[in-house]
Amino acid sequence: MHKEVAIIIGAGPCGIAAAVELQRAGIVPLIIEKQNIAHSISMYPTYMHFFSSPENLEIGDIPFTTANEKPSRLEALNYYRTVALRHKLRVNAFETVTSVKQANGCFELTSVDRFGESKTYYSDNVIIATGYFDHPNYLGIPGEQLDKVTHFFREAHPYTGMNVAIIGGSNSAIDAALELERVGAKVTIVYRGDTYSSSIKPWVRPSIEGKVSKGLIDIRFGSRVVEIEPRTVTIEKADGTREKLANDFVLALTGFHPDRQFMIESGIRIEEEGFPHFDETTMETNVPGLFIAGVVASRYEANEIFIESGRFHGRKIAEYLKSKQQA
Ligand code: FAD
Ligand code: NAP
Repeated sequence: MHKEVAIIIGAGPCGIAAAVELQRAGIVPLIIEKQNIAHSISMYPTYMHFFSSPENLEIGDIPFTTANEKPSRLEALNYYRTVALRHKLRVNAFETVTSVKQANGCFELTSVDRFGESKTYYSDNVIIATGYFDHPNYLGIPGEQLDKVTHFFREAHPYTGMNVAIIGGSNSAIDAALELERVGAKVTIVYRGDTYSSSIKPWVRPSIEGKVSKGLIDIRFGSRVVEIEPRTVTIEKADGTREKLANDFVLALTGFHPDRQFMIESGIRIEEEGFPHFDETTMETNVPGLFIAGVVASRYEANEIFIESGRFHGRKIAEYLKSKQQA
């Protein structure tokens, strides 16, 4: 039976960073990734620029420099791909890990590859770095499953001339609203907060306030979409009054959450507050040898960990495993 020393599930920035750190500690891990390197970033809005400066997104001591102040999505994809290639990381792409179990003193992982074939791996250590982007926060309202509704905004062009409702009031919602307005979409933001969200980046806020005050974007504060119909959406204000708006498309940009069920099934204890149990100095969970890295380690809300902070989780794990090997 072939046994790995460490398997990392997920080749996002934090999974890749963990792999580089383990290699430096003399452990050559295998990464299993259900799509390909930096898959979540590849699904971000096509023309997006990161909020972070490039040096704050660097991993594996490989410099990330960009011509502009903030990197584009394309530059970030190029960067993370380059890191993985330069460090010759072992990545099994297009393979989804379906379970992690303890068996015979190690971990047994099962996966399904792109041909539908099931595979089994054994490893002394497992690092879950599966991110959150596959799990949007659903609203659970009638009509959410209609084809005209998406939780993932890619680009504005298809929405030209259309009535678009954007649900949510944070950065994804505001960025999308601004991009849509530029291509001539008729945008209504439906936001449950009473005023602009404090999460909106300070340099973005004047743009949205300007467009709203000029009547180019409509924003309904203190409101929720309660039903989505083929040609309309029904919104409800805090006082209970309802209104139907003409509507062609809905962008429900309500954020994401990590797949806690996968962690529970792997044996990780979820604290009463809803976050996984782990030791902050080592990233080890209550299951010895099972670690978490990146945004899956978020305690209270998903946005508390991002690349800037999650990129350091791998170093903690590597240092701990190295110290265990030396003991
Ligand atoms: P991810 O990047 O999500 O990677 C997880 C990987 O695991 C994915 O490739 C996925 O395909 C894979 N995976 C999932 N399940 C399985 C499975 N069962 N088997 C195998 N593989 C699996 N952060 C910043 O620091 N600065 C920014 O400017 C910034 N901008 C952002 C802009 C947007 C629009 C969004 C949505 C987020 C932004 N973030 C930013 C947050 C940041 O992108 C995430 O925190 C980051 O991607 C987390 O990295 P990760 O490696 O933990 O997870
Ligand atoms: P988010 O910050 O989690 O915001 C989700 C929004 O949806 C919030 O306004 C929230 O309302 C609302 N919401 C959540 N659940 C809801 C529900 N059930 N009903 C109605 N409204 C609901 O998500 P995001 O904007 O997608 O941002 C995710 C991450 O990406 C963040 O880290 C962000 O900084 C990052 N991001 C970066 C860029 C960039 O770098 N250019 C662009 C976009 C996003 P409340 O405000 O009331 O909580």
